Amino acid sequence: MLSAWIERDRICLTADDLDRLDGAFRDFLLEERLIVRAENADHVSCDACHAHHVEQVRRLPGTGTARLRIYCPHAGWTEVPPRRLQQWRVDRSMVAGMLSRLIGTANAPETVVARSLWWLGTLESGGGNCNVYFAAQQKAVERSTLGRVTVAKRGRSILIVPRIAESPQEGFVATVALGEAFRWDGTTLVLQEDRLRAALPVEGGEGAVFRREGETYRISYAGHSFTLRQSVGLDYLAELLCRPRQPMPAVTLLATRAGVEAGAMKGSSGKVLDSQARREYEARGRELMCELEDARACDDMGRIEACQEELDKLARELAKATGLGGRDREKRDADKVRKSVSAAVKRAVQNISKQNKELGRHFEASLTYGSELCYSPEREVDWCF
Ligand SMILES: [Zn+2]
Repeated sequence: MLSAWIERDRICLTADDLDRLDGAFRDFLLEERLIVRAENADHVSCDACHAHHVEQVRRLPGTGTARLRIYCPHAGWTEVPPRRLQQWRVDRSMVAGMLSRLIGTANAPETVVARSLWWLGTLESGGGNCNVYFAAQQKAVERSTLGRVTVAKRGRSILIVPRIAESPQEGFVATVALGEAFRWDGTTLVLQEDRLRAALPVEGGEGAVFRREGETYRISYAGHSFTLRQSVGLDYLAELLCRPRQPMPAVTLLATRAGVEAGAMKGSSGKVLDSQARREYEARGRELMCELEDARACDDMGRIEACQEELDKLARELAKATGLGGRDREKRDADKVRKSVSAAVKRAVQNISKQNKELGRHFEASLTYGSELCYSPEREVDWCF
């Protein structure tokens, strides 16, 4: 019931709507300021007859308190008590605050998109925390940057919406209706934690997990679990695993990870690097390549990672700053991006192979590299993120 009002921003609750609510629920909404006073209505439904018509309210000029009336074709002029014109609207931020308190995470909620999308907190679930998001409309998520933030960065997340659109939201492990996640128990709202947990994918002994947990990735496959330090390559791999059989341009992977528009990466931003800065970038790039060779020769994983990180950053900056340099330059930059992204993923797969040969083989058989990367699983794996 409240769901519909949360979803439609501009719709007001009339005094009649409020009267139809359960008294305790109405008081709760008012006391917690989940609904606030909106502008008075200028039309009201007639309650003098049974024709269900809505009439404009007319003010009777006169002394003392203002008197209001409507004209009913059946009953004639009918007086309207002023309180029938009062209207309320849902304060979505207050609702998000209330829901967040029920989840009980410190420093929550966090506004992702003003008035429409919030991070409510985290829910402890089995092998790790799960983020809980609340959107006033599922549409809000599709339009927001959250849809572009990497799953790796966001971690395992659940989405609560007033009403589930045709399909669950991509990038979330579960999409749950508000009325399912929370319940009115006659005195207050209660979090239905078991319902939320039930919506999460089950992790059995055979479950495959690829989950970012702070600075590490927890990976489980074929009954064997291990952790790896977070790396660029693992972030890319996580993105690919989320979208099986969907070719991802290397430039998009890089852009998503960096949190910028792919368009800007392709050099359409219109900015041109001045030649001095460009020479410096390129010199630093050559230096890093040498250092990388050296680190590889010494098999120094720490240094290899560090070099690759900086090379990635450099490629990103180059790609972002290069604008009107012409097709050749764009092509060269795209080439750098393709090489750097592919190399990072291949390195991640090598590291995984060292921990779990079988999973390494699975990735080798399922991943394709190039200007587009793709994870086409040789056999279906139900990854939990
Ligand atoms: Zn009437």
